[in-house]
Amino acid sequence: MVKPLVYLDNAATTQKPQYVIDKTNNYYEKMNANIHRGVHALSQEATEAFESSRIIIKNFINALGKNEIIFTRGTTESINLVASSYGRKNIKEGDEIIISTMEHHSNIVPWQMLCAEKNAKLRVIPVNDEGEIIFEEFEKLINEKTKFVSIVYASNSLGTVNPVKKIIDLAHSYNIPVMLDAAQAVNHLKIDVQQLDCDFLAFSGHKLYGPTGIGILYGKVNHLEAMPPYQGGGDMISKVTFEETTYNELPHKFEAGTPDIAGAIGLGAAIEYIEKIGLENIAYHENLLLEYATKAVSDLQGLRIIGTAKEKIGVLSFHFENVHPHDVGTFLDFEGVAIRTGHHCTQPLMRRFNVPATSRASFGMYNTIEEVDVLVNGLKKILEVFG
Ligand code: PMP
Repeated sequence: MVKPLVYLDNAATTQKPQYVIDKTNNYYEKMNANIHRGVHALSQEATEAFESSRIIIKNFINALGKNEIIFTRGTTESINLVASSYGRKNIKEGDEIIISTMEHHSNIVPWQMLCAEKNAKLRVIPVNDEGEIIFEEFEKLINEKTKFVSIVYASNSLGTVNPVKKIIDLAHSYNIPVMLDAAQAVNHLKIDVQQLDCDFLAFSGHKLYGPTGIGILYGKVNHLEAMPPYQGGGDMISKVTFEETTYNELPHKFEAGTPDIAGAIGLGAAIEYIEKIGLENIAYHENLLLEYATKAVSDLQGLRIIGTAKEKIGVLSFHFENVHPHDVGTFLDFEGVAIRTGHHCTQPLMRRFNVPATSRASFGMYNTIEEVDVLVNGLKKILEVFG
């Protein structure tokens, strides 16, 4: 018998509300044209829808202007853009870049590549047994050689919410810019980039109930103005001759080629949808699910929760003493429960906690207490079979 789906893999990607699907389809059905180029009505309509999304996003994170909002393919591309453009221009031999042990590979590898190219050094803030950044170690790592800090706002593997404001304030006291990977934070926490005073911030549409293949880089306008383009091509230019090219103004300087127009419109729709419900209501609901689930699994024999920070988003990672996470995932799949098992693109973090992988249930706004019960009953059955 086919079981009803219990989808608890929201940290990997979220399901899309009908409103988002309709808005995305509507672009293809009713206004499909390229943007920023045509004088014809359809192109203008598409351009307006695309640019309206930029304003929705600007307001959502309280950026100063819409020229600080760059459409990218997602968090990964946003970080690569900063590492390539800002990094290549500003990082020199002997400089240091600080990240943390709990970074996603997309906030490790681009900096590692930059360090290799520039002969610079990657420094890593350790985490404690609860899965929290050890702030005193950050204070020790930061020095006159530090030229950039890039930190995850909320961890996809542990759920930890990092004290990013404190990190930014300390880094700024040394005049060091800070980038935040907000891939997991943006759908749980209200983000105000002016209040945070971060220099760059990245997130992906698909974790925010929006489409895949679209994401955002926020950057302070003074940084973005000073940075060279990331890619060359159409739309990012002002004038091209074979001798010389001048570049378009922000944000188009960083948006070479035809973007994911439908995706950008869909992302705007996702934010409208979320704002109607209220981010604080979503966070409240997910916290209830997390608390309930944490309590329920705590009694299970041989189960160790990985990530017990005081402040968490709705992510519950765990490891069974005698059952491999892949067996947990496969067994739960038979029960209709979708969770993620593996290293969650955080291999160094798995090593820190001495586990090959974890099983991770992550909650979204549509999940229910009854669904958590299905998960916990599934885990109990696993213990009967394997235990
Ligand atoms: N950072 C974090 C914390 C993430 O959870 C993810 C997605 N798992 C990424 C970065 C990368 O996001 P994307 O694959 O959408 O570029």
